[in-house]
Amino acid sequence: MINFNINNLVRPNVAKLQPYSSARDEFKATGSEMVFLDANENPFQTDVNRYPDPQQRSLKSELAKMNSIGPESILLGNGSDEVLDLLYRAFCEPGQDNVITLPPTYGMYKVLADINNIENREVQLSKDFQPNLQEILRTIDANTKMIFLCSPNNPTGNAFAEEKILELLENFNGLIIIDEAYIDFSSEESWISKLNDFPNLVITQTLSKAYGMAGIRLGLCFAAQEIIQVLNKIKPPYNVNALTQERALNRVSNMDEVNAEIADLVDQRDVLYKALLEVRTVKKSYPSNANFILVKVDDANKRYQQLLEKGIVIRNRTTQALCENTLRFTVGTKEEIEKLIKALKSLE
Ligand SMILES: *Cc1c(COP(=O)(O)O)cnc(C)c1O
Repeated sequence: MINFNINNLVRPNVAKLQPYSSARDEFKATGSEMVFLDANENPFQTDVNRYPDPQQRSLKSELAKMNSIGPESILLGNGSDEVLDLLYRAFCEPGQDNVITLPPTYGMYKVLADINNIENREVQLSKDFQPNLQEILRTIDANTKMIFLCSPNNPTGNAFAEEKILELLENFNGLIIIDEAYIDFSSEESWISKLNDFPNLVITQTLSKAYGMAGIRLGLCFAAQEIIQVLNKIKPPYNVNALTQERALNRVSNMDEVNAEIADLVDQRDVLYKALLEVRTVKKSYPSNANFILVKVDDANKRYQQLLEKGIVIRNRTTQALCENTLRFTVGTKEEIEKLIKALKSLE
């Protein structure tokens, strides 16, 4: 059993903060007949002349319903990138605390650690791309505040075993961040349904992948109310703009459309996976729970260049831990996948 206390985790300066409160925070709910002369806005209608709702109430209410949780367990940010940065700034004391990441994985965890002057302790995944529990538990010390689990993992595409995540949740007094950017493409369930069981569980998601809205920048964070309250204290008041709130609300109100696109991408992923078995230069394709496939080829640098010359941009992951000579293919449309397969088969 863990001995979890949010007060032991929050940075002392953050614990002391009062959240910035705009007048609009207090009066938004009271209706449109109010005269708003409080925020030095321009009164002439442009559709966006007013500041956005700092708590994104309409959007959160819809997301709360979709996920069967309360809106007070949700924080929204300018992409997951902002959500992750807020976590660092709320819980990690620069020059003192550390986090644990599990390469090969999403690069932003390390970038944000470096920006915030937080030590990033790396514990490589095992050969089958699962968390190495013994090594992680050995690496934790009194200043370890967060462990980042990306599941399904980028760039490997696999989900982490449930029992491994459980064991970490049950043995770590800091925050376990599960980045579920690709969860909608996965056969695994989201951990959101387990939020009530673990006070140290934080889940991040995004509208950038399965929802097809990378351009609006919307990141989601789900956690116990005590954690969300801390993040709310330090987020910029208007971090999610009005256009983003409007477009996101529109999109999540059209889940039939979103789900049809996800199903289509999952089909195309399977088509690509099968086709790759017949490409001479491909040595191995890794099964994927995401909208991309990692493949091992004979010579990643050479094949990357050749595909570029054929007008196809992919990601070369050869310098990542455990990923020598690998390329990552994002699943595109049927036509794009056909083009990729044809190009791969033509490589000399
Ligand atoms: C793409 C991706 C994200 C998305 O980040 P946004 O800032 O929300 O666009 C988050 N995590 C992982 C692992 C990703 O691959």
